[in-house]
This record gives sequence, C-alpha cells and structure tokens, in this order.
Amino acid sequence: MKDFKNFINGDYVTNVSGRTYEKRNPVDNTLIGHVFEAGKPEVDAAVAAAKAALQGPWGQLSVVDRVAMLDAVANEINRRFDDFLQAEIADTGKPRSLASHIDIPRGAANFKIFADTIKNASTESFEMRTPDGKTARSYGVRTPRGVIAVVCPWNLPLLLMTWKVGPALACGNTVVVKPSEVTPGTATLLGEVMNKVGVPPGVYNVVNGFGMDSAGAFLTAHPEVNGITFTGETKTGTAIMKAAADGIRPVSLELGGKNAAVVFADCDFENAVNTVTRSVFENAGQVCLGTERVYVERPIFDKFVAALKVKASEMKPGRPMDADTKIGPLVSKIHQKKVLSYYAKAKEEGATIVFGGGVPDMPDDLKDGCWVQPTIWTGLPETATVVREEIFGPCCHIQPFDTEEEAVRLANNTKYGLATSIYTQDISRASRLATQIEVGLCWINSWFLRDLRTPFGGSKQSGIGREGGVHSLEFYTELRNVMIKY
Ligand code: NAD
Repeated sequence: MKDFKNFINGDYVTNVSGRTYEKRNPVDNTLIGHVFEAGKPEVDAAVAAAKAALQGPWGQLSVVDRVAMLDAVANEINRRFDDFLQAEIADTGKPRSLASHIDIPRGAANFKIFADTIKNASTESFEMRTPDGKTARSYGVRTPRGVIAVVCPWNLPLLLMTWKVGPALACGNTVVVKPSEVTPGTATLLGEVMNKVGVPPGVYNVVNGFGMDSAGAFLTAHPEVNGITFTGETKTGTAIMKAAADGIRPVSLELGGKNAAVVFADCDFENAVNTVTRSVFENAGQVCLGTERVYVERPIFDKFVAALKVKASEMKPGRPMDADTKIGPLVSKIHQKKVLSYYAKAKEEGATIVFGGGVPDMPDDLKDGCWVQPTIWTGLPETATVVREEIFGPCCHIQPFDTEEEAVRLANNTKYGLATSIYTQDISRASRLATQIEVGLCWINSWFLRDLRTPFGGSKQSGIGREGGVHSLEFYTELRNVMIKY
C-alpha cells in the first residue's frame, strides 16, 4: 500500500487536516494507496517555498548551470525509467507498450528540449538616434515570471506535466504542480529526482488533491502565484481564467477538443485506416488530440467503415504488462460512467452501432476495472450529442461527405479548435484545408507527429496561448525592454 504525500520545499509531507482519499487501480479496481489531500495550509506552504526559492540559490544560477541541472533531471528520469513506468501504469492502467514509448521518454525529453531552447534563445536589439543627436540602444531581456502554478490532467500525466515544468524551470521560474487527483504517482516521484540531482528545495513542489474547494482552486486563487498553466477541460479552464483575473495573472490554457479527421477518396487507404485507428483508440481514446469525428468522402465510405470496424475488433483489452494488450481501461470509475453514458445516449439518439457500444467481457479478476469497448457509430445527424460533445473515450462517429467545401464546413462545425488530420494524396488540397480548418494543430497523412520546437495549442474554445520551443518563452518569461543612452 502506497502513501502519496505532498512534496513541499524538498520534503515529503502529509497534511494538517489528516484528509486522505483512495487511489484505485483502473485495471481491476484494487486499492493502490492513499493520497494526502493538500488543503489551504499545504498550498500556502508550497507557494511560500516556491517564492522563497526564487530568491535563493536557484535564482543565482546562470543559464548554463540551470540547463545542466535540467539535463541531469532528464538523465535521472531515464535512469529510473522502470520506476516511472510502474507509477504511470499503476495510475492509468495504460499498456506498457504505450507508456514505455510515449509517456516516460517524452517526460524526460521535455527537460532536454527546453534546456536546449533556453540556451539558444535570443532577444532583439535596436539602435536609434536621440533628439539631442546621441545614440541609444534598446535590447530585450527575458526574466522569469516567478511562481508558476501547473495544473494537470490524468491522460498523459508525466508527459503533460513536464511539458510545462520543463520550460518553466528552464526559464528560471519555480513551480507548484497540482497533478490530477486520479494520477498522483509520477509527479510525486519526480520530487525524488529533483532532490537527487540537487535542484534546490522549493523549486519544484507538488500539492495533491481535487479541483473545486481543494488544492486546485486554492492554488489558482493564490495571490502569490504569478502565472497559471493548465491542461484540462474547457469548463475547468473557464473557472481558472476567472480565478486568474484577480491579480491580472497570465494564463496558458490547453483545453478540450472534438477533433475531426477528413479522409478523401484519393488517400493512401491503408495509411488512413491505420492512422485513424490510432487517433481514435490509442490510450483508450483519452488523448486531447484524438479523433472523435471522422468524415469520409462518399466513394470510400463503406470500405472505410468496414476497415475501421476490423481494426476496432483487434483492439484487445487486457493487463498493461501483457504483450498482446492493445487497449487499457479508462482512468477511473467516474470516467467510465461518463463514457458509458455517451454510449447510451448515442443508442438513444438512433446511432447505427458499427462496433462496441458497451463494456467488454473481461476475465473475473478484471471485471471490476474501468473497461469500455472501442466503439464506432454511423448514421447520426450533426446535432447528435456524441457528435457535438467531447467524450474522451475510444469512440468515433463516421459520416460521409461529397465535396471539399462540405468537409471544411463539417470539420469547423464545433466550438472547439484543437486538432485535425487530413488524408489525401493531393497536397494542394491538403494545404488549402490546413488553412481553412480552424485548429491549432493540423496533420496531413499523419497524427500525433510532434516536433517539440513547434507551437502547440488550440484555437476557439480549445485554449489560449502556444507552448513548445521558443513559443513557451512567451508565457514562462517576462520580456523586459532595456534602453541605454550613450
Ligand atoms: P479536468 O479539467 O477535469 O481536470 C484537470 C485538472 O484541473 C485536475 O488536476 C483537476 O483537479 C483540476 N481542477 C478541476 N477543477 C478545478 C478548479 N475549479 N480549479 C483549479 N483546478 C481544477 O480535466 P481532466 O478530466 O483531468 O482531463 C481531461 C480533459 O483535458 C479533456 O477535456 C481533454 O481534452 C483535456 N486535455 C487537453 C489537452 C490539450 O493539450 N489541449 C491535453 C490533455 C487533455
């Protein structure tokens, strides 16, 4: 049985309230341990530690030394790869094959990439003539923003947390992380890494707990927090933006999506089917960039639906460590209930269920897990609930289209604007659509292909701001202008 404590000022601590909650394994619902919920006193202590650390040795480090420390963090995560893997799998139930290829390596890489970015980042410099005939020079200096609150979701816990902690620390800030209540493991473990490589106490802090009336709300409302970076649902992003308004704190928001894939008849059919299979079912559909709406040009519609059905039937659910497991459970009972309510709604609203639609038949020892079947629907109107709302499960609705204009209209028919993927051999058409579909990320004949130097973020109600490469510097630093008169 494990205790998940808070990590404050370099120490693992419990809480003054004595309040804990259970962490259960999504694979079979067995109890993994107890999480100490941070209350106001713990959040206050974490923010105070983060603020003090800005004035301590951390604030005195040169960029070169800071970057060396972040490299050491990445190396130590890789050295303890198996510990991080176990923690991530215990929290999420995701297959080992996935976590070992994406979550943990990307978690480590996030420290390296931003160490490189900050090392090579430049600012502008201008010379001008003053009215009295002298010369002046203006130049930009990037300074840390201060204490950054990092509020994270549960779907890619280490990857999405380090995606923010990496650049925040590279830029010289300190952080207080609030991991998702259902995935406290890797954020907590990262404290050990920070201590091991000599990151000063208070630079990295973790407060566990929930959102409303708990650690998340206490942290984001805290007046000494200088910036809030958040990944999660649009509705939570709205609450956080309101909290940030007090004190005019900047926010970076990576929010929900209802992403469309657009498949033209001239596509490389096998690539389109394989890639859409991944974008719908990978991580049991719990990927913000995942596809929940598929639009297929009419001549290949039936063939595409049949092919995706075969792929769905091959998504074998099972234990994370089994080599033949293709899909894990959902992250929690609460999320399972939510996704199954959408499955019921689709049926009620008249969907044709091409595949799935319920809970898979699992062996007795896994029956209590948070399983749902990979699911494909057709035949619903654009107004149907499962075509409109983000489900965040392994499911999609497939609909035919006849013209390029119709495809664009359908893809844009959503309040969200996170990602899209377009499948066609006609690169001119793909480029046209890439500018017409209102999203932050557009893939052509691919999905989830990421160059970490490039901007990442959503448009419309999928977010505010861009992170990645030099774009992260816009949020994690203040750009100061210095003017010298010679
Ligand atoms: P969520 O919004 O429910 O929770 C995210 C975090 O916010 C959790 O740590 C939670 O405790 C905290 N929180 C909740 N209410 C809060 C409040 N009032 N104040 C402060 N903190 C609060 O999201 P989730 O269910 O954990 O994650 C799934 C969602 O995340 C989906 O909508 C998905 O699309 C989105 N997501 C987006 C991206 C992206 O890059 N755009 C990436 C991954 C996930």
